[in-house]
Amino acid sequence: MFESLSDRLSGVFDRLTKQGALSEDDVKTALREVRVALLEADVSLPVARDFIKKVQEQATGQSVTKSVTPGQQVVKIVHDALIEVLTGEGEPGALKIDNPPAPILMVGLQGGGKTTTTAKLAKRLKEKDGKRVLMASLDVYRPAAMDQLAILGTQVGVDTLPIVPGQKPVDIAKRAKQQATMGGYDVYMLDTAGRLHIDEVLMDEVEQVSKVVTPRETLLVVDGLTGQVAVEVAQEFDDKVGISGVVLTRMDGDGRGGAALSMRAVTGKPIRYVGLGEKMDALETFEPERIAGRILGMGDIVSLVEKAQETIEAEQAERMMKRFQKGQFNMNDLKMQLEQMIKMGGMQGVMGMMPGMGKMAKQAEAAGMDDKVLKQQIALIQSMTKRERANPQILQASRKKRIAKGAGLEVSELNKLLKMQRQMGDMMKKMGKMGKGKMLKQAMK
Ligand code: GDP
Repeated sequence: MFESLSDRLSGVFDRLTKQGALSEDDVKTALREVRVALLEADVSLPVARDFIKKVQEQATGQSVTKSVTPGQQVVKIVHDALIEVLTGEGEPGALKIDNPPAPILMVGLQGGGKTTTTAKLAKRLKEKDGKRVLMASLDVYRPAAMDQLAILGTQVGVDTLPIVPGQKPVDIAKRAKQQATMGGYDVYMLDTAGRLHIDEVLMDEVEQVSKVVTPRETLLVVDGLTGQVAVEVAQEFDDKVGISGVVLTRMDGDGRGGAALSMRAVTGKPIRYVGLGEKMDALETFEPERIAGRILGMGDIVSLVEKAQETIEAEQAERMMKRFQKGQFNMNDLKMQLEQMIKMGGMQGVMGMMPGMGKMAKQAEAAGMDDKVLKQQIALIQSMTKRERANPQILQASRKKRIAKGAGLEVSELNKLLKMQRQMGDMMKKMGKMGKGKMLKQAMK
C-alpha cells in the first residue's frame, strides 16, 4: 500500500523548525512528496508538473499559522489547489436539458460502462429531476446490447425505444427523436455502440448520429481505473465528435482518482458524474472534494485540512478583530468580508445572521444586493493597487476613473463601494469595542 501523503509530509517537516513564513526550501521539499503522490495516483507527468509549479508559487512566502505545522499547511494549499483544478471555472453542474425533447448522446469504448451509465442516468433524471426519459440503443453490432438496455429500462422504470431489427444507427436515432417528440418526453438518451479501440468507423458513426439529433449533451463514459488511457480516449472523442462532459465509472474500485485531475487539466471538460458500482443507483454527481482527498491518499487528511482551515480562519478573525478595534478597516478587509458573504450565501444570508440587521437585509434585497453586486465590488477592489487598497482615502478622480474602468464599471459604483467601506469601518469599530464575547452573545439571541 501507499504510504499516505500526510505521513510522508509530517516526516519531512518534523525536522523543520517553525518559521514565520514557508520558505522556498520548505515548499520544495514538501512538493517533492506531493509530486510522488500525484504520480502514484496516476496523474500524468505534465499535469503533475504544472500543478506543482502552480502550488509552489502560491505557497512560497505564505505565513505559517500558529497551530498547524508547515507540512499541514502545504497539504492544505495542495488540497485547495486540487479542488480548484477539478472544479474548473464557472462550470454548470447540471445537464443542459431544457427545451424538450433534449437529446443526450452517450459515447465511449466498449466495456467502459456506457449502457449501465445510460440507465443509471435515466433513472436519476426521472427520480431526481422528474423528467420523462426515453432510451434507445444504437448498438447494432451486438444485439445483446439492445436487449441489455431494454432489460435495464424495465428495471429502472424508464421506456426504451422498441427494437427494429436491421435498422442503421442513424435511422434509430431519427426514430428516437420522432418518438420522443410525439410521446412528450423531456429527454431522450442515445446509447451508441462501443468498440474495443477507437476507430474511424466508430467515430464516423457517432458523428453522423450527432449531426442528425444535435445533442444537448454528449457524455463520454470512461473507465476511471484506466487512468491515462481514459484521458487519451477523452481527448480523441473530443477532437472528433466534441464532448460536453465526462462520466468516470468504476470509481468504487481502488484507483486513486488521478485520472480525474488529468482529465480536467488535459481536456478542460467537466466531469459530471462518477459511477460507484454496478447497481442502478450507484451514480453520483462529481464532487471535487472527494477526489481531492482520494488523490492525496488519506482518510485523515480531510480532518487535518479542516482543522487547518479552522485554525487559519480563527487566527485571521483574531487579527482582524484587533485591527477593527483600532478603527482600521481598509479595502483588503472589505474584500475578505465580501468573499465571506458570497461563501455564506450572499448579503441577505449574512445580514440575517447579524444582530439587528434583519431589516437591512430586506433593504439590501430590495436594492438588488445580490451575489452579482458582491462580485462587482470585489472586481473593483481587485482593480486597485496595493497602496490604494490599504489607504482608500487617497483615491481622487483620476484613480477612481482608472479603477472603475479596470473593473468595467462606472465611477458611481466605486463611490458606493467607498461609502460602504467607511460605513462598515465605523460599524466594525463599534462592534470591536463591544468585545468578542458580548458580540457573540448578541448574535445568539
Ligand atoms: P458498455 O460496454 O460500455 O456499455 O459497458 P456496460 O455498461 O455493459 O458495463 C460493463 C460492466 O461494467 C458491467 O458489468 C457493469 O455492471 C460494470 N460497471 C459499469 N459501471 C460501473 C461502476 O461504476 N462500477 C463498477 N464496479 N462496475 C461498473
